[in-house]
Amino acid sequence: MKPLLLIDIDGPLNPYLALSRPGTPDGYHMHLMRPSGWTEGPALPVLLSPGHGGALLALAERYELAWASTWMAEANEWIAPPLGLPPLPYIEWPTLLGSAPDGVYWKTRHVVDYAAGRPFAWIDDEITERDRTWVAAHHPSRWMLRRIDPWTGLEEADFDALAAWAGD
Ligand SMILES: [Mg+2]
Repeated sequence: MKPLLLIDIDGPLNPYLALSRPGTPDGYHMHLMRPSGWTEGPALPVLLSPGHGGALLALAERYELAWASTWMAEANEWIAPPLGLPPLPYIEWPTLLGSAPDGVYWKTRHVVDYAAGRPFAWIDDEITERDRTWVAAHHPSRWMLRRIDPWTGLEEADFDALAAWAGD
């Protein structure tokens, strides 16, 4: 069975901090979106790079891809099509932005639950050392947590690291 690749959107695919700089970063397109709950005011600006879609499809030979994002089902409506990705399974968070003790990120225990003992890699801009400690203590098989810079989004080095980890 392939390991899981659990994909956060805001940060890794949408480098939202770059929106505060003038211009669109190289390789990215700006999309204006209206996911449910974003009905008031201006549309939500989202930066996406089609190159990320191709790179994720290449990783799908080594991984089973799934969304690990607060976009949940709407990732398949708004994010997958411009990236050229098929609809993907997604983690349905039991509580959104819930709290977790000891500075552990609120997503972490749900990510580990979703993996259900299966090897997994997880890319997210909010991962810290505390999450690595927690996963090491609670997940019985291989894992990789890779923090992605929300100024830059996923870069070539990230895709190389993911390919290498799955190939071990
Ligand atoms: Mg994020």
